[in-house]
Parts: sequence; structure tokens; C-alpha cells
Amino acid sequence: MTSTPQTTAYIYQQIVDRNPGEPEFHQALHEVLETLAPVLDKHPRYREEKILERLCEPERQIIFRVPWVDDQGQIQINRGYRVGFNSALGPYKGGLRFHPSVTLGTMKFLAFEQTFKNALTGLPIGSGKGGADFDPKGKSDNEIMRFCQSFMTELYRHIGEITDVPAGDIGVGSREIGYLFGQYKRITNRYESGVLTGKSPNWGGTLIRKKATGYGAVFFAEEMLAANNNSLTDKTCVVSGSGNVAIYAMEKLQASGAKVIACSDSNGVLFDKNGIDVDAVIQVKEVERQRIKAYLEHHPEAEYFENGNIWDIACDVAFPCATQNELKDKDAQTLIDNGCIAVCEGANMPCTEKAVALFHQHKVAFGPGKAANAGGVAASALEMQHNATHSSSYDYSEEHLHEIMINIHRNCCQTAEEFDQPGNYVVGANIAGFRRVADAMLA
Ligand code: GLU
Repeated sequence: MTSTPQTTAYIYQQIVDRNPGEPEFHQALHEVLETLAPVLDKHPRYREEKILERLCEPERQIIFRVPWVDDQGQIQINRGYRVGFNSALGPYKGGLRFHPSVTLGTMKFLAFEQTFKNALTGLPIGSGKGGADFDPKGKSDNEIMRFCQSFMTELYRHIGEITDVPAGDIGVGSREIGYLFGQYKRITNRYESGVLTGKSPNWGGTLIRKKATGYGAVFFAEEMLAANNNSLTDKTCVVSGSGNVAIYAMEKLQASGAKVIACSDSNGVLFDKNGIDVDAVIQVKEVERQRIKAYLEHHPEAEYFENGNIWDIACDVAFPCATQNELKDKDAQTLIDNGCIAVCEGANMPCTEKAVALFHQHKVAFGPGKAANAGGVAASALEMQHNATHSSSYDYSEEHLHEIMINIHRNCCQTAEEFDQPGNYVVGANIAGFRRVADAMLA
């Protein structure tokens, strides 16, 4: 079967025209498609069989109503989503995000990114993403529970351990996974451990999952620095965010001999010249469920800047671990001017395309999220394997995660070199991820 070959720019425009009003999805598409022409030239079958056009169209997109009752007895309505993007390599796999910015477009961008990320892990997982435009901020525990139960009351019919396996993302942690799993179990009459990942270790989860995204990003940064005969020892680091990814990135950075001097939330920036006390952040964010400003109650000598910009703080290595497009070109320029040597994305697409271009131009080592933050979903895939054995006797170790991140780094490096762009992890990650999915689709 043959068809007229099209350029990646033409394909990009066609997809944008079919998906209006979804800027994040367009951005993610653009950043990937821009790098794929050489691999399409090298393997003509990808073009002939329209693999790229097929890969950019989600296999399925589910939108549903989520009604719930708040603590005042008022009925509230939110919108739920689950996008199954690609199942060539395994069941749809990807997190659930509860945040007011959730739209079909943001879900598609995240699920698209997940396609390449999950392929890079080398594990048997397809890609997906879901969530709701629900804002967990300021909600009581009971409200969160009722929301999760209502969300699962619709979602359950679309998921399953060999169909689609959600996990956490922004606004969804182990508490929410517990409420979601409880409702799934009740409705389906099945103890199907592998239907969700990110479960607590005492009922089907693994010890490493919670830490895996943050730890993995640090392992990736270590490899990037080692490739330039450098290391994290004594480096000053800045980590945006203060959620699950940021917390464990900070923990691992400090264990690796680096000093983390700042983190943040959507209200402001926390600066502690003595090094952020990660246990205090865990206490504030996970136990007290407070804003990061409350860290000052534990460390009054630290500083807090309401509405501050974390990228104004000079550092050697920056870890954007909060959310998409949080680091813009002017921030990239500030980091470069302040001597930053590496940027490693713990969040999904936190740097704008212009910011990434500046990093490349100024030879700042740049680790894109789809490679650098793949440790989380890799640990999820291990959790699925563990669940499929119905055993409670085995847990995955940090060494296993480390090995996976080293392999992802090596794969990105070798692929970038193969395509004459040594040191360009964006090219390496996009092409290596694409090839694995494309070959499975062709097969
Ligand atoms: N939400 C995470 C991500 O962006 C993890 C997904 C998962 O574990 O399935 O990769």
C-alpha cells in the first residue's frame, strides 16, 4: 500500500486544523513532529503507511459528567476525561489530573507525551491520560472522597488491568487512588489490583512508586552531567513545585550531594539558603495539606516570596517539577545569564519551545520530561507486573529504577548521535520513542 508522502510540517498543519483551540496539544505535536523528518526519511514505510498521522490521532476520547455533593449539601458538576492515545505497546497507561486547567486539549497533550515516554521505558505499556476540571484546593477530605467515588462511577466501565490503567498526576496522590480503587472494587465486585497504580504498598502498591518520578529525574540529570564529565556533587539546585515529583527530586538531590535552595507552589516561592528541609515540606504538604508558605512555621529563618518567580534564583541545575509552560524564554535567559548548566524536566512540558531553543543554543544540557520524568510511569509498569503475579512477597528496588533511567538516557544519547545531533535529548527521546511505537503499529 502506498500513498503520497507528506512533510511533517504539512502533517502538523492538518492535525492542528482538525483539533482547533487546543494550544498545549499543538505545542506538544509541534515539538515532536519537528524532530521526526529524519527518521521518516530513513524508514519510508512510516510515511507510506501514514504511521505519524495515525499516531497523532487518539484511539479514543471519553468525556463524562461528574456530579457530587459538597459539604454544604450543594450539588456540584465537573467534567471528567479519559483519553486512550495509543495501545500498540500495551494497555493505555497514564495518570489522572484533578486541576481547573484540565480540558480535552490538555488531556490530549499529556496523553500524546505519554506515548513517547512510555515507549522509552522499554516496558509493555500504551499511553493515556485522564482527569477532571475539579479543583482539590480547599476541599475537605470527605469532598475529595465523594468526588473520587462519583468520578469512578463512570470511569470504571472504560478501564481494567488489560485495558487502561490510570495512576496519579497533579491533584491525585495515594489518598485519591485509595478512594478510586475502593469505588472500583465495590462497583465491579473484583479485587483487580492492576487496574490502578500508585496504590499504597500495603494493598498492592510498591514502595518505590511514590518516589519514582522525582528520583528518576535526578538519576537522569546525573547521567546528563556525567556525559559532560560533571556531577551533582555540590551543585546548587532549584526545584519548582512542592508536590510529589518536587519533594522526591529534592530528597534524592540532597542524598546525591547537591544543595536545593528553593521550591514553590502556585502562590509563591520558598527560599532557604541552608538547603530546603524536605521533611518539613512533606509535613506541610502531605500531612497538614497546607500551602508551602507554612514552611516558615518550621523554619522562620527561610524566606517566602508571594507571587515570586523561582527562575530568578541563581542555580547550577534547574528542575521544573510543577506544570506545563511554567518556564518561559525570559526565564531561560535569566537561568543562562546566572550560569545554569543543566535543566531537567520533572513535570510534563514545563519549558516552552522558545525556552528549550535557548537552552540548546547556549549548550545548557536539557532533559525533556518525556525522558527525564519517565521513572514514575516505569515504576507503575513494575507495579502492574507485580499485581499480575498476585504475590505480596516482592518489591522493586531503587536500583531497578536507576537501571531503567540509565537505559533511557543511553537510548536518547545513542539515537541523537545516530541522527547527527549529539547531546540533543529532545531529538533522541522523540525519535527513540517514536520508533518503538511505530514499529509496533506497523507489526
Ligand atoms: N502521571 C505520571 C506521568 O506523567 C505517571 C503516570 C503513571 O504512573 O501511569 O508520567
